[in-house]
Amino acid sequence: MSYLAPAGTVMSLGEIARGFGRGLFVERARQQLIDALRRNSDLTHCWPVSSGRAAMTLALQAMRAFANDPERDEVLIPAYTCYSVPASIARAGLRPRLCDVDPHTLGMDPHALDKSDFSRVLAVISANLYGIPNALPEIEAIARRRGILMLDDSAQSLGARYGARAVGAYGDAGLYSFDKGKIICTIQGGAIVSNNAALAAHIDALLRDLPDSTLTETLMNCAKLPVYALCLPPAMYGVVRRLPFLGLGRTEYETRYPIAQLSRPQTGVAAELSGRLDALNQQRRRNAAGIAKALQGVSGIALPAIATDAVPVYARFPMRILDPAARDNVVRTLDDAGIGATTSYPRSLADVPEVVATLRSPQAPMPGARAIAAQIVTLPTHGYCPPDLGERVRSILVGSRTTARVAA
Ligand SMILES: *Cc1c(COP(=O)(O)O)cnc(C)c1O
Repeated sequence: MSYLAPAGTVMSLGEIARGFGRGLFVERARQQLIDALRRNSDLTHCWPVSSGRAAMTLALQAMRAFANDPERDEVLIPAYTCYSVPASIARAGLRPRLCDVDPHTLGMDPHALDKSDFSRVLAVISANLYGIPNALPEIEAIARRRGILMLDDSAQSLGARYGARAVGAYGDAGLYSFDKGKIICTIQGGAIVSNNAALAAHIDALLRDLPDSTLTETLMNCAKLPVYALCLPPAMYGVVRRLPFLGLGRTEYETRYPIAQLSRPQTGVAAELSGRLDALNQQRRRNAAGIAKALQGVSGIALPAIATDAVPVYARFPMRILDPAARDNVVRTLDDAGIGATTSYPRSLADVPEVVATLRSPQAPMPGARAIAAQIVTLPTHGYCPPDLGERVRSILVGSRTTARVAA
């Protein structure tokens, strides 16, 4: 049966082949990718690396060296974000400190952030989940006022903007991911960006000593790229989606991952795809607008609040089913209809034992993050979505018992 993957980057075998070809001239491909990312984010410094996690670990290690204060070993993060974030913090030898999240915006609540204990905090990390910009000017202002650094995690938001600036360009450094469910895909990959010259010198020093991706890693990632491209169309995805190697939708806390340069062929593919970044994002935006329009006014659900000055890119379209008991039923019905809906990250980080074990002291409960974990459903926005996706989802929602509780 035909099935819409929950997320993905539409790409052709020709593009992958051209990307591999570009990778033969690695310095030129690197420069093309760096130029595309710099053009996107108006930033001076950019370093492609083996994953978003590697980018985060390296950026935090550089921040540690830059701040040069051994007492500052905590990193403030939203209590609802990708599990890779606290894992990357642990890998950098640091500890997370949690801040609650506003269910309406799905981003850190600036008031909760401002009330945090900053005494041992090195940096704060944004999340910009699903391509939706967080309250970045507010977060940046708090970081400046409190004398801490800021890392703008744009793993899911390459191409999104807030006001005059790109998401990823707030604070002292930012990062992008090229993993499977993100904006552009090289199976694994990512980049660090920065416009803080003093911090950039520390990142440069770390990157000079960074090993190349191993041959095995490179070959595995490159072999998966054409498989990914061929499996994403709904006719194929319906057949292969239960096979484990696609690895979509897994959520694990894992601190063992390679920290290396982005391989040559993957750099070439990232450079090739970055030329189509605006077109990919325009399509996602159009699909998200269609879903939002169809779901407007449906009772029992809440659509994300988008700041007036923000331009999201919608790696996925998130909504909340206000009655958590109705959510499983909705996801099952969407699944039966061939629509890859997900319940995103299953828990607030305050309820993930591996994360709790790394906290310096017990922390207050995180009701906003817990509510999101219980209510969220994401819908696909990629180029294989049919124009009537919103209408189809609407009729499923109206037919399910989502209306048991009225919108808050
Ligand atoms: C995916 C993701 C990461 C990590 O990126 P990888 O390339 O998968 O290592 C970090 N932060 C957020 C918010 C993410 O979604």
